[in-house]
Amino acid sequence: MNCSVSELKELLGQYEHILLTAHVNPDGDAVGALAATGEMLRAWGKQALIVLDDDVDDKFEFLPGIRTVYKPDDVKTDASWLTLILDATGVDRIGKTAELIHGPLVNIDHHISNAHFADAEYIRPDYAATGEVLTDLFTQWGCAITPSMANALYLAIATDCGFFKFSNTTGHTLRMAALLVEAGAQPNVISEHLEAQSLVKLQALSEVLKHIDLYGDGKVAGITFTPDILQYTGEHTGGYIDYARTVKGVDVAFTVKYISAEETRVSLRSKATDVNAIAAVFGGGGHIRAAGCTIKAPLAEAKTMLIKEILKAL
Ligand code: AMP
Ligand code: MN
Ligand code: MN
Repeated sequence: MNCSVSELKELLGQYEHILLTAHVNPDGDAVGALAATGEMLRAWGKQALIVLDDDVDDKFEFLPGIRTVYKPDDVKTDASWLTLILDATGVDRIGKTAELIHGPLVNIDHHISNAHFADAEYIRPDYAATGEVLTDLFTQWGCAITPSMANALYLAIATDCGFFKFSNTTGHTLRMAALLVEAGAQPNVISEHLEAQSLVKLQALSEVLKHIDLYGDGKVAGITFTPDILQYTGEHTGGYIDYARTVKGVDVAFTVKYISAEETRVSLRSKATDVNAIAAVFGGGGHIRAAGCTIKAPLAEAKTMLIKEILKAL
């Protein structure tokens, strides 16, 4: 059921215990949305616990609101707990945290592929980030946005729209960002934290760049994260796809990453082609120009299947 802005506030107001979660492999939007919402709900006097079935990338740790994150096994809930899922399209995207849902389920999201699964939802595919949805909601609810909430929400918005460069950046996105800067967000501090990396990680980039391959007359660029390459990069490989996307003439960029002998993780980005539709072929989704899926097949086989679908879609 789609809620109005005021219905959503009223519903959250009725519950004392709130379990907050977001998608596995949490990106800046997921982490920033959780940090800000946790702080906002605590200001309302709620017990709000952030639970993630994954580790948070070190680069987000400067956000005070993300320092206390629980793993699903560390938390017990019952029917008196409301679960609020942020930045995720379905219960299948939150891993083991799904086992903690015993009470009402609420979803705030911006993915076009949202499965409309919650008891109450507020979904805005016209917004670039869940952080943009929340900034709008908090403002309409009359909640004070503290400097730490502003930083978290700015980070959420900026990371999902490529720091205001992607096609999902609208006037509204920029207005919400401006409002956050006025509330104390520090764009320079956020960029410094996100860009800072160890020399080892920076040098891993040169190894990854050597492995960008072109397909489809140069319209497709892909990076294959074999176990060997993952030794250089570590598990957090989210940012590399943007290098493949910037190759001149490329429309669709992809990464395929070894998870196990039977499982391959896929990320897709594009300038024109609908990559949400490509991800959907494999049971995934996301947005028109940024999507993902997991293919139950070994790396090489998954890559062949994926390239076939991309070339069909071009
Ligand atoms: P990623 O490539 O993992 O950064 O994902 C790109 C976008 O697609 C993000 O907004 C993700 O939340 C979304 N996404 C990734 N995988 C899936 C999936 N299996 N189902 C739905 N949305 C996804
Ligand atoms: Mn996300
Ligand atoms: Mn998002």
